[in-house]
Amino acid sequence: MLKWLGSLTDSNEKELKRFQPLVDEINSLEPEFQKLSDAELRAKTDEFKTRLKEGETLDDILPEAFAACREAARRSIGERHFDVQLMGGIALHQGKITEMKTGEGKTLVATLPLYLNALSGDGCHLITVNDYLARRDAYWMGPIYHALGLAVASIYPSQSPAEHLPARLYDPDYTDEKDTRWPHFRPITRRQAYEADITYGTNNEFGFDYLRDNMAIDLSHCVQRQLNYAIVDEVDNILIDESRTPLIISGAAEEATEKYNIFARLVPQLRKDEDYTVEEKERQVYLNEPGMAKLEKWLRRDGLLKAPSLYDPANYTLTQYLENALKANVLFKRDRDYVVKDGQVIIVDEFTGRLMFGRRYSEGLHQAIEAKERVKIQRESVTLATITFQNYFRLYKKLAGMTGTAATEAEELHKIYKLEVVIIPTNKPMIRVDNPDQIYKDEETKFKAVAKEIEAFHQQGTPVLIGTVSIEKSELLSDTLKRKGIPHQVLNAKNHEKEAAIIAQAGRTGAVTVATNMAGRGVDIILGGNPADRDKKEWQQEHDRVIELGGLHVVGTERHEARRIDNQLRGRSGRQGDPGSSRFYVSLEDDVVRRFGGDRVKGFMDWAGFDENTPIEHSMVSKSIENAQVKVEGFHFDIRKHLVDYDDVVNKHREVIYAERRKILEGADLKSNILSMVRDEIEKLVATSCSRDLIEADYTGLVEELSTILPLPPQLNPQELSKMSSKEITEKLVEYAEQLYEQREKEIGADNMRLMERLVMLRAIDSLWKDHLTEMDHLRQQASLFAARQVEPIVVYKKEGHALFESLTAGIEHDVVHTIYKVSLAKKEAPAQRQPQKAAVPAGRKVGRNQPCPCGSGKKYKHCCGR
Ligand code: ADP
Ligand code: MG
Repeated sequence: MLKWLGSLTDSNEKELKRFQPLVDEINSLEPEFQKLSDAELRAKTDEFKTRLKEGETLDDILPEAFAACREAARRSIGERHFDVQLMGGIALHQGKITEMKTGEGKTLVATLPLYLNALSGDGCHLITVNDYLARRDAYWMGPIYHALGLAVASIYPSQSPAEHLPARLYDPDYTDEKDTRWPHFRPITRRQAYEADITYGTNNEFGFDYLRDNMAIDLSHCVQRQLNYAIVDEVDNILIDESRTPLIISGAAEEATEKYNIFARLVPQLRKDEDYTVEEKERQVYLNEPGMAKLEKWLRRDGLLKAPSLYDPANYTLTQYLENALKANVLFKRDRDYVVKDGQVIIVDEFTGRLMFGRRYSEGLHQAIEAKERVKIQRESVTLATITFQNYFRLYKKLAGMTGTAATEAEELHKIYKLEVVIIPTNKPMIRVDNPDQIYKDEETKFKAVAKEIEAFHQQGTPVLIGTVSIEKSELLSDTLKRKGIPHQVLNAKNHEKEAAIIAQAGRTGAVTVATNMAGRGVDIILGGNPADRDKKEWQQEHDRVIELGGLHVVGTERHEARRIDNQLRGRSGRQGDPGSSRFYVSLEDDVVRRFGGDRVKGFMDWAGFDENTPIEHSMVSKSIENAQVKVEGFHFDIRKHLVDYDDVVNKHREVIYAERRKILEGADLKSNILSMVRDEIEKLVATSCSRDLIEADYTGLVEELSTILPLPPQLNPQELSKMSSKEITEKLVEYAEQLYEQREKEIGADNMRLMERLVMLRAIDSLWKDHLTEMDHLRQQASLFAARQVEPIVVYKKEGHALFESLTAGIEHDVVHTIYKVSLAKKEAPAQRQPQKAAVPAGRKVGRNQPCPCGSGKKYKHCCGR
């Protein structure tokens, strides 16, 4: 790991040196671009576009395009890209991850590569961590793009029940009188937002639009273009922290309450270590042979076992309940992983400690916990479409990212995403003072000390920002501060917009701000507060005063599992060469110390003659905690890598199916396709009924089977068929099937026939794909059971997954052939409805009964899918 980092810094130097000539060239172009009139500057865009059409490459025009963008930024928003920002822009254009410290102006940096890449006309996306930033950044940078004649749009989740898939275009000619913050945002459709040159939005919105597009039954419903170039802001958050949660569009399924209850009753009767083994660190439970034998006995007694062995494929679904019940009972702890509130099991977010209302564990685990806790088991949902962020982002032709903290995760970003990290130096030297950690015996003493430190800084007037690992801890601290009479603000990543306003003032004299780690991310903390809407002189005085007081002081109340998260918190202070300081407080009861570094830290404490009430502050302790963090990071990396391996299997399937779907929407010739499927099916049927292995050919059976596909004429009866060879039979049948097809086409008209073909194909694909996703889920759980048998679960998963995929494609063919001769047109057809999306609710977001239905029908949820 350390070796890796060492080589990273070496190659980084080389990389930066390679950027230098480009930076020099852009600088040398500056006087020339400054002389251009506004109209001439705008005309540059057309010139670049023409030159690209004539064969020049994006790299050829990079220096001029960057010079144009820099000039446009200077004129329109009064910010001229610094040289280091040009370097960041070059790295982003090259599809790399730029590490630039917080406050270095990454929002502005992104305009350079976005402008350059948008010149190709293929659309560029900027992905933000939250919906507030999706709007703020598009609006903030809007004037730059506008000065260059490019369109920039923003997509974000609904902010009110009246808004459905909202999108805005930055347009200075438009003014919304009611919107005081962003008056020049013109409402547009999602599709228009994707047609803009540049689109800002959250990862969720981009991902859900992609999934929805792949559920559409008409091309006119699709909103995205080909995914071309994306820059992911706060890339570590999205590709590392969030990569574990897939996006899911789901619908309701059948009830299976009883099974959950049965297993919730059986599993507690098993004994730890004897019947099952727990791997604490990997958070896994494995069933042992004796446990398996017991379960088989009990299940047989209850008549639930479909085959003698639990491993038998016939027991697939049972093992799924079993796995979940084991996890629910052994690994998941009430009030740590989840809470039970008003008869509901609510997940606790492991990063923020927030209660995640409406979110559910997937794959039946949530139901298993409900059964364990004896609360009402909610209906299971069926996944209609799903993708992980990591696979979504891999769909882009070119991907880049930026963040203040990527270096510690460089190895992972490289191995999983093939993304290289480039560390860009700060514009001004960093002068923040990072004090060594203070270690306390227990949490209580630690928090007392934290409160005391806050009090001292507050009295002096120095602004303090305190980071906590969970909402619960934030509230605890808030109570203490209240008792001490210290005015403060608490942020917990709930309302991004409100929190942005608060955090923007966290640098004012005497400000005390308590925040969980994601809260207020992306918002600049300016010393002395946000100068907007303030008297200039008064702001300057306050700004100078805070600098005198030493700048923003950051207090960490616990070491996070990853150093990266700690660095982020620290990075809130010392922006753009500001003074600042930081200190972390640690106790022996903290998670990371207890789970991973406990013994070494304690050993050292004993050696140092550690006294219960005084803290210890020693670089050796800080070092061992850091070592513990490196260990945890590696461990989490392995888990994520593992997930990627699994995910790759389904991802291949998704690629094939979605590509097929797309071809259908784009008007592929389905007729010949379907007719060849019909021929296939007929051949298969004839082969099985008239096979030479059969003592007697089964003509009656064949006719019966065939009539489930199409109505046979009287002359094609068993007697007649028995007089022919199987080759003749096949030819006769295929000829007849084709004739009938033509006849139907004449009856209903060619256009209608094409429509039918499309609908029949899409319906078969969508319904079987949905089943396939569920089966793959089950298989994944099944596969993990194989670990006990010394077989690599991933090997089993790949092999069986392939078989399932083959039966999926066979199933689609079967369904299409068995439907196509039966469909008919009703008088009042409404083919343009977004039928397959019925009951589709993006997981993780709760839809109010009176809100518009997420399926896009325009009806209220309660009158549509929520019925
Ligand atoms: P980051 O995303 O890197 O944390 P931001 O994009 O939020 O940083 O920018 C931080 C602050 O720096 C903003 O207030 C922005 O206006 C300012 N800034 C960035 N680049 C420049 C520049 N070239 N000239 C002047 N101000 C800049
Ligand atoms: Mg930012």
